[in-house]
Amino acid sequence: MMHHIRRLARRGIPALLALWPALVRGQAAPAPRSAPVSDLRYEVTFDSVTAQSRTIKVTVDFDVAGPGPVLLSFPAWTPGAYELSFFARWVSNFTALAGNKPLQWDKLDYDTWRIQPAGARSITVHFDYQADTLDNAMAWSKRDFALFNGTNLFPYPEGRGTDFSATVTVKTEPGWVVATGMAAAPGDSYREGNYHDLVDKPFFVGRIDYDSTQVAGIWTRLATYPAGTLTGQARAAFWDQIGRMIPAEAAVFGETPWRNYTVMMIFDSLYGGGSALEHTNSHVGIYNIGFIGNPVLASITAHEIFHAWNVKRLRPADMVPYRYDRSEPTVWLWVSEGITDYYANLALVRSGIITADDFMAMTAGKVATVAGAPSTALEDASLSTWIHPVDGSQYIYYAKGSLAGFMLDILIRDASNNRRSLDTVMRGLYQTAYKQGRGFTAADWWGVVSRAAGGKSFTDFAAKYVDGREAYPWSRILPLAGMRVATDTIREPRLGISTGQDSSGAIVIRAIEPGSAAAEAGVRAGDILLDLGDLAVTDPSFAAAYRARFGKNEGDSLPIKVQRNGQTLTLQSTVRLVSHVEGRLAADSAANEKAARIREGILKGTTE
Ligand SMILES: [Zn+2]
Repeated sequence: MMHHIRRLARRGIPALLALWPALVRGQAAPAPRSAPVSDLRYEVTFDSVTAQSRTIKVTVDFDVAGPGPVLLSFPAWTPGAYELSFFARWVSNFTALAGNKPLQWDKLDYDTWRIQPAGARSITVHFDYQADTLDNAMAWSKRDFALFNGTNLFPYPEGRGTDFSATVTVKTEPGWVVATGMAAAPGDSYREGNYHDLVDKPFFVGRIDYDSTQVAGIWTRLATYPAGTLTGQARAAFWDQIGRMIPAEAAVFGETPWRNYTVMMIFDSLYGGGSALEHTNSHVGIYNIGFIGNPVLASITAHEIFHAWNVKRLRPADMVPYRYDRSEPTVWLWVSEGITDYYANLALVRSGIITADDFMAMTAGKVATVAGAPSTALEDASLSTWIHPVDGSQYIYYAKGSLAGFMLDILIRDASNNRRSLDTVMRGLYQTAYKQGRGFTAADWWGVVSRAAGGKSFTDFAAKYVDGREAYPWSRILPLAGMRVATDTIREPRLGISTGQDSSGAIVIRAIEPGSAAAEAGVRAGDILLDLGDLAVTDPSFAAAYRARFGKNEGDSLPIKVQRNGQTLTLQSTVRLVSHVEGRLAADSAANEKAARIREGILKGTTE
């Protein structure tokens, strides 16, 4: 928060007001502004030599067209990854030259370099970038591969806006492949017309599997690392899912607004879980290798592709335009992330990738996630994500926002006798906000929702379930869509540990209940949990497989494999079963005719 305020003081004065600083505050200096520069050319070098030091070498050439110092600034964040990272951290060996003559430079602030041109009209900047962070918003490398984002490597002229074109050239080994959503330009380069597009097209460089096909008439590419990981039948099955989910999502908005789309995936056997980041015509996902063939991989992929409409194009006004020098908090991530997650699973069920039962089980999982987290308002969770709260509410706007979308869908269909739906809302806002070149506001959102529901007011809904912390009224809402909550009493093995993820994504044991099975086996806080029995805990199907394998016989042997101080240990434990009641969603066979129609409409993507 302090950080945010200080950055506002440095750069937050709009250009118009800066002309009259005395009107704004007594002693305000004008916002820093670079000398005008043009014809920016970024050259990126990553090959088997630079890979050894996990370094990407960058050269920036540009022309100077006016007096004063050149100010080159690095972004603080990558849009979509709602956290401040300050990419200047990973820069080293910065030099500025006019021809062969070194130019003087110093720093204006922690992420802005100030270069004195000394009359030079043409300047070359060199720096190295450390590519060692496995994070889809950042840069990472191996001996034969690099991922990087434009936000990491492409500094911009401070105070000169985003409306400048630039080219990118990648130098690499002859046999290595370059994959990016960036537009190809003559001379083996890429070119974009403005800075937003320049930094929204991440790159893969190296030994990858790379192929393409047409989905609904549009070229779609699949780039995966390491080479040889997603191949054969598994790749064909994943391609089949992409071919189904994109048309199901496009049907919501009535268009597919890109010339090509690139799905970029990294598989890593140590990465705990999966994480992906959206862009206008691509996304980058990082997954544990166990995700291959799992419906969770299809769901994350559908989520990221839906973002190409919802957040990259249709976006809250708080984030229009993106700015790169500070955070852009908004209360609307429950729409941008949560409703995207609702549509990810809708796209899977509507295109036949999962069954209706699967969809209801995934939705019940979101209900359980919300029930297990502290009671948190959607708007508060959305604002707070920038500081990564540790109380368990950090990402609750995904599951809870998805459920808010589910409720709105049901209420709109109920109020309109299934003639309109949440699809009507998304398509309507896409037309009236994004297509008109602006972000959406609260008045836009609730106006479209209310009109879709025939004029019904959602003021009370917003106060209770979006701004407020009231529990969602499933017993009243679900029957409107021919669904009900069924409960099962299940027996499952209980170890008595709580876990979290460390910075490399591994699953770490944080605490152990005294007297529990884990305590008696000798498990310690700080151990990295690897396997229970022969089941890897990083496998996306772990929970169900664990319950199926060990949920039967009290006292069965249950080996716990952990890593402690770099050594792998297997601790001997035994199964202790506990009972608990679990809710699931089910179709209600006694639903009335209207409710049954609404249920079918949601699952099939239809209205009447
Ligand atoms: Zn998302």
